Amino acid sequence: MNPYQFVPFAEPAELKPVVPHEKIDGSLNSGVLRCRLTALTEFFVSGPQERVARDQHQRLQFCRDSGTPIIPGSSLKGSIRSVFEALSGSCLSLAGDVRKRRVRNDILSYWDKRRQHDYQVPDGFAPCGMRNEFKQKKKACPACRVFGLLYSGEVHLGRVHFSDARLVSDTGFREITLEPFGAPGPRHRTFYGTPESGNQIARGRKFYYHRVQGARTTSEKTGQNKTVEASLPGSVFEFTVEYHGLRDDELILLVYSLILEEPMRHKIGMGKGVGLGSVKIDITGWQKLDVKKRYQNPGTGFVNVSADQLELELQNVRKRYHESFSYAREAFEALRDIWTWDEDNPRDPQYPSYMWFKENRNVPLEEVPDDAGQYKVRPSAAPRGSQRSQPEPSRSTSSSDAATLKQLQKQRDKQKQQEALFEVPYQDREVEKVTILEVSEATFAVSLPKIKGKTFEVKKKNPYRRYKVGSKIRVRVHVNAASEITRVEEA
Ligand SMILES: [Zn+2]
Repeated sequence: MNPYQFVPFAEPAELKPVVPHEKIDGSLNSGVLRCRLTALTEFFVSGPQERVARDQHQRLQFCRDSGTPIIPGSSLKGSIRSVFEALSGSCLSLAGDVRKRRVRNDILSYWDKRRQHDYQVPDGFAPCGMRNEFKQKKKACPACRVFGLLYSGEVHLGRVHFSDARLVSDTGFREITLEPFGAPGPRHRTFYGTPESGNQIARGRKFYYHRVQGARTTSEKTGQNKTVEASLPGSVFEFTVEYHGLRDDELILLVYSLILEEPMRHKIGMGKGVGLGSVKIDITGWQKLDVKKRYQNPGTGFVNVSADQLELELQNVRKRYHESFSYAREAFEALRDIWTWDEDNPRDPQYPSYMWFKENRNVPLEEVPDDAGQYKVRPSAAPRGSQRSQPEPSRSTSSSDAATLKQLQKQRDKQKQQEALFEVPYQDREVEKVTILEVSEATFAVSLPKIKGKTFEVKKKNPYRRYKVGSKIRVRVHVNAASEITRVEEA
């Protein structure tokens, strides 16, 4: 399946006056949320990097502040804003991203290397800063009211502040080379436009599916892909979100955008299309500011929500989100589907292959077949020993249930294998004598004595040789710097 899908522009939010900054009254909410972010897959946020030429392979370091790995607050704020927008039918702000996309009135423009691609923004989703409701009456959508807006002269400062998230529990970092972030780009109108509009109206906001198995890596380093210093699953970061002067429903939506609900998880950082960036966010503490107390006695007024009370409050937020934003149900359900994290039924998102695109220009996004990523891919480019997902060599299965079970088992094996891969019991280019387990037209399968329960596909080298199941053969094992087996070849 394609790695992303769009949350539709369904019902737009009602515009309300922004609360002026000088106004603080008891009916508005202020406080601090303490948040914990736990990585479920490999996770990467880029720091400032050296520039490299366009065709050069780029290695990227994790973002750090005085040596401590961090996620910049601005990056967290942007991620949470896009959830907040989608869950409330807020306007299409594209905050912070002006290099490749722009919205002017009701036209959403993208640029790629060749040209500009314009899509129409549906009624009610044009950026607030361009609308007369804001210019004349200071009315804006929920996201602009809470996160702020800045649009050619029109300004409203946000009412939330995100701190940087600092690493507090380190499970380690590893350099991994990611599969290229594939097409389809915005020029692919059957993916970005709605079919009903003849691909003229923008579909919605783009979100990426989770890949429980984690990163799609490769051993090929080219100008098309990147090597990143990723933090490993299990790493924990902590940050705070300060808010002031929020209306009740604005606060509910802010908190809900942070915690979501089962089985949803966030996707944050780089490499979302190739399996990185699945995270769980929990609120571990909540301080509320009592404005009256603060005025009577400056420096006081913060009330800690007790641990028992916190759980109840968060349950209440989930309930009230659905009550107050029921108009956005269609968008919510789309996001819930895309962001479902299900370890028992893992999806396997992958960009469709180049050849698939070449031959299927007019196929809309919803009709992309599950295996489009494998379409006419050269087998040599996808070694089995790497973490790339490969279809089984054709074997008949008695029923689709058996196939599903088998698929599941394979995913679990692969996960175990990935854990085991941190320390591979082979030196690079070590030669091993093995038994041929299976033979197909261009390849044969073997298992390695020091790695239990896994088979590796090896390309046939000698066209004149008879490869027989059960016979012995010498193979060479290729291991990269990250201790991953990248390839097994006939020695
Ligand atoms: Zn807005």
